[in-house]
Amino acid sequence: MLVEIDRCATDAIQAVTGCSLGKRTLKFLDYGKMAATFVNTETQHAVRVLAKDDARELARLYAPGAATPAEAQKQAYAAMPEELLFSIQPARINIAEENMPGFRGVRVICASCGEGINLRREVRVGERTLCIPCAQRSLGSHGELDARPKVVLIVGYKKVGKTTLIERLIPELSSRGYRVGTVKHHHSDFPVEVDAQGTDSSRHRRAGASGVALVTPTDVALFRDTPGGASLEEVVAALHGTDIILAEGFHQAPGLKIEVLSAPNAQRRCAGDAQLLATVGPATGDASIASFEPDAIKPLADFIERSVLRSRSENVVASRLSTPPFAAARAAV
Ligand SMILES: [Zn+2]
Repeated sequence: MLVEIDRCATDAIQAVTGCSLGKRTLKFLDYGKMAATFVNTETQHAVRVLAKDDARELARLYAPGAATPAEAQKQAYAAMPEELLFSIQPARINIAEENMPGFRGVRVICASCGEGINLRREVRVGERTLCIPCAQRSLGSHGELDARPKVVLIVGYKKVGKTTLIERLIPELSSRGYRVGTVKHHHSDFPVEVDAQGTDSSRHRRAGASGVALVTPTDVALFRDTPGGASLEEVVAALHGTDIILAEGFHQAPGLKIEVLSAPNAQRRCAGDAQLLATVGPATGDASIASFEPDAIKPLADFIERSVLRSRSENVVASRLSTPPFAAARAAV
C-alpha cells in the first residue's frame, strides 16, 4: 500500500485495510496527491486509485437538499458511482527486497553520528558509511552530487608571492584528502611549448596541429589553440576530477578570491571586490576581510576548507538521496 498524501484519506485507508507503517505494509510518498496504490506483494499486481478533482463539484448535484457542502459530500459520496469519484488504473511497481514487510537487514552504525541504521538505509560517501541525514550534510544543502571543483582565484600584483602561496597550499590541502588542481594565467603571446623541443608532440604542434594531446600512462597534457583565450570555466571543466582549483592571475574574473599583499598599505588589486575572501600578507586593518600571515598555511587551509570546500563533491553511491526509496507508482501504459 502506497499513499501519496498525509491527510485523513490515508487514515481511512489504514482503518479499512489494516495496513500500517509499523507493519511495513504502508508506504508514504510525500507527493501531496490524493492517491493511493494497492499492491499485491506476491504477484506485484498493483492498482492506483486517484480521487477525482471534480467529484467535489458533482457532490452538490447528488445531494441538492444538503445543508452544508460537508453534508453534501457525505451524502453524495455514498451514492455516486465509483468512476465519478476515482480514476482507477493498473500500476506497475517494483518493490525492492529491503522495502518488503518482514525484511531483516544488517544494522550498521553511521560513521558520523554513531547512530544505528536499519533496513539498508545507509549510504556510502567516499570511504564512509553514513546515515541519510549525515550524507546529505556532507554533500551540501540539496544533497546532490556536485562534481564541479571549487575555484579560488589567487590574485595580487606581480612578485607578491602568489606562486609560492599556491605551492604551499597544494601539499597542505592534498594532505587533507583534497585533489588540488591549478590554473596559471600567462600574458605571453608566444605559443606554449608542448614539451621539450624536438619531442614528437612538440613536432606535431610545430607542424601546425591546432590541438595536441600528450598522453602517458599517468598524465594527460592538452595544448590547444584558443584565439581570444580560453575562459576560466572552460579550463576548470577540463580539470574535472579535482576538488579545488587554485587559479593564479585571473583577478578580473568573477569568483572567490584571495589576494596576496607584499607590504603594509600596499595597493590592493581587488579591494572592494565582493568575492574577496581573504588577504595574505601584512594585516590590512580591514576587519571585514580575513587576513593571514604568509606563513599561516594551516590556518589559511582551515579557512578555505570552511568557507569554500564545505560541500565538496565526494565519490558517492547515493541514489537514495535524490530519489525516495520507492519509485512513484506509474500507470502501466
Ligand atoms: Zn549519521
